[in-house]
Amino acid sequence: MIINLLPVGKISSELIEEIANFIQERIPVDVKIKDKLILGVKMDETRGQYNAIHILKILLNFFEPDKLLGVCDVDIFVPGMNFVFGVVNGIGGEVGIVSITRLRQEFYGLPEDLEIFKSRVRKEVLHELGHLIGLSHCPDPSCVMHFSNSLMDTDYKKDELCDICNEKMKQILKYLY
Ligand SMILES: [Zn+2]
Ligand SMILES: [Zn+2]
Repeated sequence: MIINLLPVGKISSELIEEIANFIQERIPVDVKIKDKLILGVKMDETRGQYNAIHILKILLNFFEPDKLLGVCDVDIFVPGMNFVFGVVNGIGGEVGIVSITRLRQEFYGLPEDLEIFKSRVRKEVLHELGHLIGLSHCPDPSCVMHFSNSLMDTDYKKDELCDICNEKMKQILKYLY
């Protein structure tokens, strides 16, 4: 399986490369970094956010992905939720998007902390990729596949799959791809 990593809009190429290396440490797949995509999606003016479903539709139309994960630095939502850190078009789906905007301490008026920020990015990316590969949410709060309702949940989890999820992932990769 190839995981295509797509910088959407303004994202540092250094961060994208760090993410790509991290994915390869955690999942036995090839990661390809795609050329940056500038999205023609309009901001929802009343919310000051972008609709993640519209972004996913564009990603689906633009690419014939094995698996495609976009990383953006704008605030995103799905209808019915105030915001999302990331979303995929389904468990075992083709495309996903992660927003790094709410992963920075500065977003909450706190001093910048690059280590915390990068650790959150790693967890959110691995979480959404886990979904794309076919993993559902995990009841273990320290597992990266545990659902994050808030950053407290995200900060509590490790940037890795628990043994059970890791075994599931290996089985899926072995038999489905
Ligand atoms: Zn999830
Ligand atoms: Zn787990």
